Amino acid sequence: MESVILGLPRIGKNRELKFATEKFFKNEISAQESENTAKTIRLINLKLLKQNNINNIHVGDFSFYDNVLDAAVLFNVLPQRFNNLDCNELKNYFAIARGVQEKAPLALRKWFTTNYHYLVPEVDNTTIIKRTSEGPIKFYKEALNEGLKTIPSVIGPFTLLKLTKFHDNLGINNIKEALVNEYVSLLKDAENHLIAEFSLQEPYLVCDLSNEDIELFNFIYNQIFQNVELKLNLITHFGDIRDIYSEVIKYDFNAIALDFIEGSENFNLIKTYGFNANTKLWAGVINGRGIWRNNYQLTIETLKNLQNLVSNEVLVSTACSLLHVPFTTASEQKLPSNVLNHFAFAVEKVAEVAEIANIITNNLEVPVNNKELFATARFTPNSKLNEKIQNLTSDDFVRLPLRKERQAIQKKALNLPILPTTTIGSFPQTAELRHLRKQFKNAQISQVEYETQIKQQIADCISLQEKLDIDVLVHGEFERNDMVEYFGQNLNGYVFTENGWLQSYGTRCVKPPVIWGDVTRNNPITVATSSYAQSLTSRPVKGMLTGPVTIYNWSFPREDISAKDSIYQIALAIKEEVEDLEKANIKVIQIDEAALKEKLPIRKCDWHNKYLDFAVKSFNLVSSGVQPSTQIHTHMCYSDFTEIIKDIDNMDADVISFEASRSSFEILDRLEAEKFETEVGAGIYDIHSPNIPSCNEIKNSLEKIITKLDLNSIWVNPDCGLKTRQNSEVIPSLTNMVQAAKELRKNYSN
Ligand code: GLN
Ligand code: ZN
Repeated sequence: MESVILGLPRIGKNRELKFATEKFFKNEISAQESENTAKTIRLINLKLLKQNNINNIHVGDFSFYDNVLDAAVLFNVLPQRFNNLDCNELKNYFAIARGVQEKAPLALRKWFTTNYHYLVPEVDNTTIIKRTSEGPIKFYKEALNEGLKTIPSVIGPFTLLKLTKFHDNLGINNIKEALVNEYVSLLKDAENHLIAEFSLQEPYLVCDLSNEDIELFNFIYNQIFQNVELKLNLITHFGDIRDIYSEVIKYDFNAIALDFIEGSENFNLIKTYGFNANTKLWAGVINGRGIWRNNYQLTIETLKNLQNLVSNEVLVSTACSLLHVPFTTASEQKLPSNVLNHFAFAVEKVAEVAEIANIITNNLEVPVNNKELFATARFTPNSKLNEKIQNLTSDDFVRLPLRKERQAIQKKALNLPILPTTTIGSFPQTAELRHLRKQFKNAQISQVEYETQIKQQIADCISLQEKLDIDVLVHGEFERNDMVEYFGQNLNGYVFTENGWLQSYGTRCVKPPVIWGDVTRNNPITVATSSYAQSLTSRPVKGMLTGPVTIYNWSFPREDISAKDSIYQIALAIKEEVEDLEKANIKVIQIDEAALKEKLPIRKCDWHNKYLDFAVKSFNLVSSGVQPSTQIHTHMCYSDFTEIIKDIDNMDADVISFEASRSSFEILDRLEAEKFETEVGAGIYDIHSPNIPSCNEIKNSLEKIITKLDLNSIWVNPDCGLKTRQNSEVIPSLTNMVQAAKELRKNYSN
């Protein structure tokens, strides 16, 4: 049995790419130096695959920022504002991703159900689709120099078209022909370089597809197969391809990659419709997103079953790119071996793929050390907790009185002006602060010293916000390295990696904690900090918590219990925290559900029963026990939630803030149409860009919001936390924001 890997992490073992790129942004290193770092990372990855005897090695999975952006640049799927840039110049490439002067960046969106973000290509009536470089062929040449024949890989035309945003009344039909021609030209170019095979990544095939989509797929692949001769591989992942399977198998792909971790239905599709005899099956049986060791016995069984169904070769593969797991467990010094033994990151997963291929090829026994991992329980379950969850009744999920009534009570209690201003929680995490945290972590300063300094930061932050004249304050989250890890550290049932970094967007990385066992809370987590911040001011300071769904979605989850059970465990812990904050006289409590939308199943038919029903209820569970006068806020990031507005309203928060500026406030029409009841802080400027919004820009945006929503339910805030920005950006931005709110209050106060 042969092996294949669908992609590796590219930030580097020690986040080398992140650090180099950030230096490049600050003009501290040249483009050439950045390229050198990138090349080193690519060569290390190639070596890893080669050493493990992986038979099919991909290139093109590397990216300085994002692979969808790479494809957009490669085929010039870009709007007018980037027309005159040579986008293959590194500086300009980053300008598209991050914005420059008055040019807004492309929108960021979550990549399917992950916390990785891609950039949304844009087409307007100035766009001319054309190939601007040789794309991944350059990486093929680079590998060939090292003596390796590889398979270049690129985001496929179907997925690229489906992810593109169109302006000027244009649509897919206006560019599909031109785009396919350019893909053909790329593939011809590959043929001219004597490249034998090429992979097209078409993950969009796992989505719900319409007849039009199916026609589009056929249009694209008919054209491609008519015009090129090299072998083509079709890569899918994150689900099954039920809507298009019977079409896909009509084409003579060299190989098709199907996901058997998240797409178990793929198995039935093969059974029902058969499999093209000219096509190999790349069987995605190693979870590319989870960090647990693979159970070889089960996997080998799956592979053998597939071999019985497929006449051509079956290869063992990762289910998706390993971009979504950290680099290696070898970088973990602190976790005990009885924990670490259960983990497999990218390097270890490559070895698992190789080992499974070897076991099957040589008809070997599954090694004892793998069997042992699954033979005994990792810990003793908390039966009391599990009983409590079993015994929850519908009353536990209802907050009374009804929201309308609560909102009136809160208006009186908080006495805020119309268009109240607030922020999302975090303030800039300065170099000084990071240094302080590092010193504490390395035991160079005492706990007392650390806490004194954090308190000083909080005090400065409160006085800054008072000076800025913000209405509802925050403490700044200086004590938190990360909104999920911080809670994980204070809850039972978690373990932490030192270097388990994942790319989230661009150079921004996250280090998800691992849910190892049953989750409970021993002591209050945030009460002392929030009380201290509140003691410094007469204005309300928001208690700041992360909600259960977000804690779960941004952790590496267990694979031995359901998502629902795990989320309810976390919800009960956070509920205790909410109620303790209220007891400590905190009047406004924000429960961030930044990642709620993230794990919304790809297929609509799964939305409610496989996710939303329990996700929404877990928020109800957390917040149902507080007084009517306590105002519950929530916050959500980058998520096009136009289609789940009712569910979000059903979370029954009093106020929600969310990202809106980068998606042009499209969501407001939907809120209006759905008679959204929750008060709304539609993010009024984009904190992900270094641009400082002017007072006028903010006023214009607010005016737009005021035409759509009830004046009394509008809040004014940035679109996300400020931790990644600098004070030199935050202070003028917030000054303008408060000024804009004040000017509009004058116009609308009667
Ligand atoms: N309260 C968090 C912060 O301000 C929310 C972060 C987020 O939405 N990702 O940083
Ligand atoms: Zn956010």
